[in-house]
Amino acid sequence: MKLQYFGTAAAEGWPAIFCECDACRRAREAGGRNIRTRSQAMVNDRLLIDFPADTYYHIMAYGLNINHIDSVIVTHAHEDHLYPLEFGNRREFFAYLPDDVSPVFTIYGSRKVGDAVKGAIASAPGRLAFEELLPFESYVIAGHSVTPLTADHDPSSGPYIYLIGDGERLLLYAHDTGYFTDETWDYLGKMRRRISAASLDCTGGLGAQYRNGHMGTEACSETKRRLCEMGIMADDAVFCLNHFSHNGRSIYDDIVGPASDMGFEVSYDGMVLEF
Ligand SMILES: [Zn+2]
Ligand SMILES: [Zn+2]
Ligand SMILES: [Zn+2]
Repeated sequence: MKLQYFGTAAAEGWPAIFCECDACRRAREAGGRNIRTRSQAMVNDRLLIDFPADTYYHIMAYGLNINHIDSVIVTHAHEDHLYPLEFGNRREFFAYLPDDVSPVFTIYGSRKVGDAVKGAIASAPGRLAFEELLPFESYVIAGHSVTPLTADHDPSSGPYIYLIGDGERLLLYAHDTGYFTDETWDYLGKMRRRISAASLDCTGGLGAQYRNGHMGTEACSETKRRLCEMGIMADDAVFCLNHFSHNGRSIYDDIVGPASDMGFEVSYDGMVLEF
């Protein structure tokens, strides 16, 4: 299974668009993997996760071929994961679509995500659709099994984390969330399949040890320990920290060493994980 990260930052981007804090200044100076755009990823070059304003940049920078996919699963309705206005550019006269693809691009997510994209869908008749996903139900989307689990994150954004399978491997994509909800731990505890990779919310990095709404390295380590103790992780499972904010203060160059000591990979824009 292949997971490619296109964007690995929280809402502001890193460096944050209007910010001159020390963490943003250091990221600007260091460049490379320390520069992070807003949250987006792709599984097996086919299943797109999230649709931030930086989608346009990701198409340019990473060859994301948006017209050869027909759907996106959205984690929640925060603007670093969902920028509904951009979907309006799929309407007639703004987008001349190729003949060999489905004209309808489907957005999947919670009811709150559906509310957020309602206007965009109305603006592009026959070009966009929304399908609501219910927590702990399994669906087949773009050739993958997709199961939304509840997240500990702003409830007004309709947050889900996702279990994604390709028939062989299983990925837990956990953005945005704090330490998992009791219902999600219950579901994972009863699951018979084993997880090959977990991408964990590390908005707080080393510097801000969030546990509610988001996580830092301490809550991520506790999550990793519990997942392993439950016996649901594959022996060769990969754990990757992702979704970083300047409020966590640790740029990529700061966190990559300590994270490795804790058994974590650290995401960067464009990173490909194979597992
Ligand atoms: Zn976010
Ligand atoms: Zn800053
Ligand atoms: Zn969020």
